[in-house]
Amino acid sequence: MDTDTKDLFIGIDLGGTFVKIGCFNESMEMLSKISVPTDDQHPKVTLNSVVNALASLVRQAGLQLENIKAAGIGCPGVLDTKKGVIITSPNLPMYKGFAISRFVSEKIHAPCVLENDANVAGWGEYVLGAAEDVDDMVLLTLGTGIGGAVITDGKLIHSAGNSAAELGHIIIFPEGRECGCTQRGCAETYASATATAKRANEMLEEGAVSSLQNIFIERGEVSCKEVYEHAAQGDKFAYEITELTAKVIGLLCVDIFSYSNPDKIVFSGGMIAAGQTLLDRISFYFNKFIRKDINVKIEFCFANLREDSGIIGSAALARDTFCLV
Ligand SMILES: [Zn+2]
Repeated sequence: MDTDTKDLFIGIDLGGTFVKIGCFNESMEMLSKISVPTDDQHPKVTLNSVVNALASLVRQAGLQLENIKAAGIGCPGVLDTKKGVIITSPNLPMYKGFAISRFVSEKIHAPCVLENDANVAGWGEYVLGAAEDVDDMVLLTLGTGIGGAVITDGKLIHSAGNSAAELGHIIIFPEGRECGCTQRGCAETYASATATAKRANEMLEEGAVSSLQNIFIERGEVSCKEVYEHAAQGDKFAYEITELTAKVIGLLCVDIFSYSNPDKIVFSGGMIAAGQTLLDRISFYFNKFIRKDINVKIEFCFANLREDSGIIGSAALARDTFCLV
């Protein structure tokens, strides 16, 4: 890389515990990465250590801060992406109202783009990951909740209120379980990893017959991972719990198909450890419920950027926001 030119891109993944920072060239090859602890008291403390870490990262690559062309920041929560301001972030309450893009941009003398963490991960998969071969894709993150990113005709959709692609809050059962968003029966109240474990725990408490009972009695709860493990070992109760999860995600994918007709739906998040069985059952329910009057072509697959998706996605977004011809 020419040391006199600006062709370095930075990806910053702001999490509740750690901030991951990655340094990339124009082809999105990672030159170096580092993480620093998140200070939950004041964002400026964290961001100053991010900038210091960044300076040493860039030096490791034989370059200087002046070589940075642009930076991207991925952050959970509600954001004003146009102004680069964190409106509210559940795991980072002290960051409320913080103009993070301007703060970072002034320190590194380069433009900075802020984006929701699911959108960043989606962009990473779209540009360099599981969906790099298609123009239209949707990412579904299956973790504590269900997050989403929708990329249509090569663009991330945002909307006026910045709350587009909140796919976990698509209602599946209108009179169903109460959701943190105040609606009822949202997909994530049944099919996130947290909700899957919660449904199992509620029924184990009521005395459901299952090989999971021993763990439940000993520890007072079972995890989503354990539910999937016991389902794979042939436990009927665990299997039924995972079937409802797959059915809800399958229905959610039917709704997503009607809305944006993606070539691929890419799944990420902790629940993908359940493996191919999860994809097969989602496909089964999708095919069961989808319209039959048109030729439906869609592929379900897992994300492949995994733990670095936040920094790769945000660096790629920085490149594609500020530098595409
Ligand atoms: Zn909801």
